[in-house]
Amino acid sequence: MAFLNRRNILAGFGAGLLFTSRIKALHAANPRNLDEKPKFDTSPFQLGIASGDPSPDGFVIWTRLVPNPLHLDAGIKHNRPMLVNWEVGEDERLSQIVRKGQALAHPELAHSIHVEVTGLKPDRPYWYRFHIAGYDSTIGRSHTFPQFNASPTRVRFAAAGCQHYEEGYYTAWRHIANEPVDFVFHYGDYIYEGGDKKDGIHTLNGRPFKALRRHIGPECYSLDEYRRRYAQYKTDEDLQAAHASVPWIVTFDDHEVDNNWAGDSDQDGTPPDIFRLRRESAMQAYYEHMPLRLSSMPDGSHMRIYRNLRYGDLMNTFVLDTRQYRSDQAYGDQTVTQGADVWSPSRTMMGEAQEQWLFDGLARSDTRWNLLAHQVMMMNLAHRKSDHSELVYSMDQWSGYMYSRKRLLQFIEQHCPGNVVNVTGDAHRHFAGNLSYDTDHIKPVSVEFLATSISSGSDGLGDDDHFSRSVRRENPQLLATTDQRGYVVCDVGRDLWAADLKVLDKVMEQNANLSTYASFAVERGKPVLQKS
Ligand code: FE
Ligand code: CA
Repeated sequence: MAFLNRRNILAGFGAGLLFTSRIKALHAANPRNLDEKPKFDTSPFQLGIASGDPSPDGFVIWTRLVPNPLHLDAGIKHNRPMLVNWEVGEDERLSQIVRKGQALAHPELAHSIHVEVTGLKPDRPYWYRFHIAGYDSTIGRSHTFPQFNASPTRVRFAAAGCQHYEEGYYTAWRHIANEPVDFVFHYGDYIYEGGDKKDGIHTLNGRPFKALRRHIGPECYSLDEYRRRYAQYKTDEDLQAAHASVPWIVTFDDHEVDNNWAGDSDQDGTPPDIFRLRRESAMQAYYEHMPLRLSSMPDGSHMRIYRNLRYGDLMNTFVLDTRQYRSDQAYGDQTVTQGADVWSPSRTMMGEAQEQWLFDGLARSDTRWNLLAHQVMMMNLAHRKSDHSELVYSMDQWSGYMYSRKRLLQFIEQHCPGNVVNVTGDAHRHFAGNLSYDTDHIKPVSVEFLATSISSGSDGLGDDDHFSRSVRRENPQLLATTDQRGYVVCDVGRDLWAADLKVLDKVMEQNANLSTYASFAVERGKPVLQKS
């Protein structure tokens, strides 16, 4: 929205019409089937609250009415629309209310509400709460972003994701709730779609593993199954605490739908028309449970999640979607040597429209830094399965889309050298490294911090397993990696971008210890990681 040209104005006008009609639809007179006197046996705020997508004058506040999170009907007795009261105040006790209203919780959206609060002051904290039928939600804290032309000296954020419920406690979320950050970036794998692991011994990360907590129900296909999975995950108090502490900027990866899906393809060879039905359920459930704006509400099996958020003149965040528009993985999505297909110009990671949007945005961006916040590893990481076997690469990460990758990194080098930082996830390990785009052009043009998982992979192997040794040996661009759970905290100043890779010593027990595995800094204009 900061970039104006004729095409964007026209595009914005079209989107504006659609947006206005959606707003009107949501704010129409009370529906005839309104439940005027909703009743609950227990608090309907079992999933907590959340806020997200801050702007200089507001943010989204979210909740969903769920008296019984583990039941497919969510414990809703009368499946009708209901009015939820919301209020936003300037102090943590909400004694100074500055905005309030009522929002309709529609059964079509599983009684979730997404209120886009506006008219607030820039760059300050606010607190919010919901109320219905004699029940109050807890009070959450959010924060507006600075004005677009403000010159903030600092922004801090945590990057995290991959929170398999069965594989560990969410202790990392508890720590994030206490970090002095301005927002959280969630890179995806908010839920895992698979069925209950059952009560046996499994193999995880090459070791025997018994589920710490159990998924309820089989693999998710229907809308109600996805809804119940989000509800189960959201009962976790550590996760709720992190949502209540700061606004989140979220995107999805694969497990919100199905492992390693790509565009219209799943990993099982399901016909695209059939897979899209599942994707439609998954996207709707994702929207229903995230603090997203109306512009991200799905339309059928498609959802617009890529977007841009500006933090004064300090940082422009481009949230990418590398699942919905990508070409199917090459070579059957195996971990293999890089054949000609990974360099094929006809294969894409972002799709043409998103790539053009990103390039236009980066070309016009006048902030000190640009953050590319996305899902999967951008480093072209090689490893050997055993000491004397060939070098292999993931076909699900950018290493399987080398032509797209080169085009993006070349664009960065030409148009915004030295001010683009990539923050990613998905790999269930920390990785920090430099990004160059060709073997004959090894000069780094950007850097990457890949945040390890909150819980996926359970207690890790540390950094002296075969994989760690192999990637360290084969990848001079890689400066740190470890298989432990945790998150990344970025501390962005006007000339220096610092990042801490935080790790927990375990996740199979509560109250684990947090420490910093490694710290790096990047100087603006000099896209290489420096150990600090
Ligand atoms: Fe994951
Ligand atoms: Ca993933």
